[in-house]
Amino acid sequence: MPQAGSVALVTGASRGIGAAIAQRLAQAGAAVAVNYTAKAEAAEALVARIRAEGGRAIAVQADVADAAAVAAMVARTEAELGPISILVNNAGISGRGLTLDTYDPAVVARLRAVNVDGVIHTVRAVAPGMRARRYGRIINIASIAAIGTAFPGTTFYAASKAEVMILTRRFAMELGPFGITVNAVAPGWIVTDMTRGALSEAEFAERVRQMSERAMLGRPGKPEDIAAAVVFLASEEAGFVTAQVLAVDGGRMDYIGHG
Ligand code: NAP
Repeated sequence: MPQAGSVALVTGASRGIGAAIAQRLAQAGAAVAVNYTAKAEAAEALVARIRAEGGRAIAVQADVADAAAVAAMVARTEAELGPISILVNNAGISGRGLTLDTYDPAVVARLRAVNVDGVIHTVRAVAPGMRARRYGRIINIASIAAIGTAFPGTTFYAASKAEVMILTRRFAMELGPFGITVNAVAPGWIVTDMTRGALSEAEFAERVRQMSERAMLGRPGKPEDIAAAVVFLASEEAGFVTAQVLAVDGGRMDYIGHG
């Protein structure tokens, strides 16, 4: 369970994995700030669902790539809900599946601004308060793409998530002396808007079949599969777990070979 009175900030929580994380953290007793960048209606609908279940939540707009907007989001969350003790860096974009051949510097710059700089901005914004209170749980959503899955078309996305993994370990080292844990969850292939993309129903069904074949459990993941792992890492009881990357991928078997 989260520490009593916990306040969680979940970035990119209007949809997909982030929405499931926000809902599960609220069900576990945390007050939750539901961050989004564009889809206010989806964020407000989730807040309404959490409140209907008896939880506390607010929706907060901010582009995580914008440090000033992140600072304002943290200030508003703390003013309305209280000091943030749980940060989940979930906001992320896929960067349109660029490869060496289709490389576009502007798209890759935006990919890094959201997936990497976004994590730096939020951690920098919450760390002073967590340090002062000598308690914190930070969970970054990486991807097994960064560990080296062999699904083509995710080259620069994978590189951005590899940065998230090493930042997780380095931030854990910097913040550990203050009682703050920093871990990452690396999802496998999870059914969300990101993985549906612009695929037709038939193409999507074929993609589900392909990805299911690559997992020992023979199925794609659900946002709730990721949320369950995050709720554990956000709990008070997980206080001796830090600098870890937990793959939640159904046992993916298609890793790039070496050696
Ligand atoms: P999704 O369905 O595309 O949802 C993305 C969420 O992030 C939305 O809530 C979106 O807000 C928000 N967002 C996007 N850019 C943002 C920004 N600049 N600032 C703040 N919020 C922003 O994605 P998902 O599949 O749930 O993925 C969530 C995380 O898991 C990402 O980091 C992704 O890389 C990672 N992941 C996903 C998979 C997978 O198979 N789905 C696998 C591995 C890792 P709006 O609704 O306002 O647009």
